[in-house]
Amino acid sequence: MRIETTVAAAVDVASWMHEVAAAVEAEASHLTQLDSAIGDGDHGVNMTRGFRAVIEKVDGSEPPGKQLIAAGKTLVSTVGGASGPLWGTALRRAGRAVGDAPVLDGPVLADALDAALAGVVELGAAEPGDKTMVDALGPAVRALRAGVEDGGELAAAIAAATAAAEQGARSTIPMQARKGRASYLGERSVGHQDAGATSSALIVAALGRALDQQG
Ligand code: ADP
Ligand code: MG
Repeated sequence: MRIETTVAAAVDVASWMHEVAAAVEAEASHLTQLDSAIGDGDHGVNMTRGFRAVIEKVDGSEPPGKQLIAAGKTLVSTVGGASGPLWGTALRRAGRAVGDAPVLDGPVLADALDAALAGVVELGAAEPGDKTMVDALGPAVRALRAGVEDGGELAAAIAAATAAAEQGARSTIPMQARKGRASYLGERSVGHQDAGATSSALIVAALGRALDQQG
């Protein structure tokens, strides 16, 4: 008798964090420019500082859930702006949802991202259309879940999630901000892309470069 063992594709958390750190650093001036228009101009610096600290801290030999929790705690303790506690909570919740799962395959990743989004919404109370990271992360999480439930390749589900996140980030341009610093500007926040939604799309896109194709 021949036993078929197929190992599904999975995301390597340490690689994901390295890819995010590189992406937010490469885009730091763009993120800062977006945040300067309707915020205080620190988003590129915040994300770069936070994810640099994360890659110092994350131990690739730990199980994925533990790595995510460590990454989340590091963001909370190193980033002063709103994005630190928000992404910190997101990654900690993701890690708790992953639990003891040995790998971040499609179904585990879908649960992790659902939990991340729920954590952001619980902490920040932003609704879709409020011109925040939720407008990028929400569509991405739903696209990933749909792709995974369709039973296709994880790479395809992540590509769909990335496209949804990028579209979601662009969709913030005509919105009026109702949460965060940009909301202080009222109608003057209209016409600018939200910085946090933009970096969220970078974080989702980085998943695709952190795929461990094992099977
Ligand atoms: P700060 O606003 O404290 O300067 P950052 O500039 O690092 O922090 O992050 C700003 C981003 O945080 C915004 O572009 C927005 O996407 C996100 N954000 C702010 N408040 C909220 C909230 N209540 N819920 C979700 N996201 C939020
Ligand atoms: Mg800011």
